[in-house]
Amino acid sequence: MIRLSSPPTAGGINIKSARELDAMRESGRLVKQLIQDVIAYVQPGLTAKEIDAYAGKRCKELDLKSGAYGYGGGRNPFPGYICVSINEVVVHGVPGPRRVEEGDIVSLDVAASHKNYFADTCITIPVGEISPEKQELLDVCRGALYAGIAQARPGNRLSDISHAIQEHAEAYEMNVVRAFVGHGIGRAMHEPPSVPHYGPPGKGPLLRAGMVICIEPQVVLGSPEVKFMPDGWTAVTVDGSLSAHFEHTVAITPEGPEILTE
Ligand code: MG
Repeated sequence: MIRLSSPPTAGGINIKSARELDAMRESGRLVKQLIQDVIAYVQPGLTAKEIDAYAGKRCKELDLKSGAYGYGGGRNPFPGYICVSINEVVVHGVPGPRRVEEGDIVSLDVAASHKNYFADTCITIPVGEISPEKQELLDVCRGALYAGIAQARPGNRLSDISHAIQEHAEAYEMNVVRAFVGHGIGRAMHEPPSVPHYGPPGKGPLLRAGMVICIEPQVVLGSPEVKFMPDGWTAVTVDGSLSAHFEHTVAITPEGPEILTE
């Protein structure tokens, strides 16, 4: 008799067992600890590389394996332990010699695994005092994430999440970046499905308990067009306008969304 060893899926999306969800809760708890430590470490004058070095050290101490480090493989693997995206950088900021200065906003995108299960979270934080305009950008992007999370419940369609995010951002006359999407997560950092942060409601796969997804809107004050820097990773707004990025790892449970990285 043949026993199927692959995990159960719904429409190609992995359904996690209770044991797997427990493992992912533990990964989420540790990744949350990591990002909180990095947030506390950031101060004006530090280079992104120095912030990244601290994140790498904390990864080791927390028994976490960075998902970013070496990501992509081949000729141009990602060189940092986390992504550090300053001001007009949208995502995947390669941690380098650029310093964070008073008045900047900086996105810290932290993905790591513990005992082979990943969690992924991002926050954009103010460096010292920031302008009211920048603070509103952070508030709207965080609000868009939570508007999306509220739709992550059994019986909804995937694009109900996408639509809620877009509606929230556009209600404040801000734009959602389309070039990057959220994703499923589990034993791999990126699993099906892709989770767009815009679009009409009621489309895409039916959401079921046991799915775990990362929702990660990037919201910009200007045009949502992006381009890549010569390093091949760092994505910036084409018009140089400011960008924010918030992300949580969310398990869909019979009772609704459970945020694993909060
Ligand atoms: Mg992610």
